[in-house]
Amino acid sequence: MAPSSPAPDDLLFAFVEGRLLIREVDGEPSVPAAGLAPGLFQSDASLIRVATVDGRGVWAGAVDPAAELGAELTPVGLRSLFGRLPDHLMAAAGRSSQLVDWYLGHAFCGRCGTPTVVSPSETARVCPSCGALHFPRVTPAVIMVVERDDQLLLAHSARFPTSFYSALAGFVEPGETLEQAVAREVMEEVGIELADLRYFGSQSWPFPSQLMVGFFASYKAGEIRLQEDEITDARWFSPNDLPELPGPFSIARRLIEDFLNRQTA
Ligand SMILES: [Zn+2]
Repeated sequence: MAPSSPAPDDLLFAFVEGRLLIREVDGEPSVPAAGLAPGLFQSDASLIRVATVDGRGVWAGAVDPAAELGAELTPVGLRSLFGRLPDHLMAAAGRSSQLVDWYLGHAFCGRCGTPTVVSPSETARVCPSCGALHFPRVTPAVIMVVERDDQLLLAHSARFPTSFYSALAGFVEPGETLEQAVAREVMEEVGIELADLRYFGSQSWPFPSQLMVGFFASYKAGEIRLQEDEITDARWFSPNDLPELPGPFSIARRLIEDFLNRQTA
């Protein structure tokens, strides 16, 4: 049977208002062992067993924002840890973040309002009144690079914090296939019709809980026409004339790099 509370050297992914508590020694971040953070949680009952990593249990939980953190621990935004924590710990951090978000978001049944309890047998919160099961939710989104000869279509979104250009992206709507979502998003955002859709790969993106599904597509018809409340600019770019690109840990960047590698091959 799975243990109900962490061993002292299990890893603890503790979040304060969405930020992960890390230890930082000489600028190097690490995830604390449960035994190094006594008293962070009022009881072990609110801790979620997430996974096993490197033979150690992984636990996640939300810390009361008023709790005393101690000098050892610093809250840090997950995005800023890309490239600073090893990939497998970033994956565990992303999973932890999403499970904590689910745990906090379903304390009450969305159907009848009764306080829920954690299922003993699966990752779900159960309503003791109406029986509804509330599972962690993953939201699918598509992200795509459109190719036209040796150029690719990149856009700047009104939501981007800086001036970079990236692949178009959007959420999958109820009843849609991934392929339909790609075609609809590209038509809505830039007015381009696609042909020849190819799956590239996917990435869990825990901000807060997307699964990004990446595609390449070929240009079929149309001229760029911006959906101006979403997209501030979109253009065809050549490999030798690229704008500022998204960060190296995103599937957007991997799509763009894959395209560029094929142009120089
Ligand atoms: Zn209920």
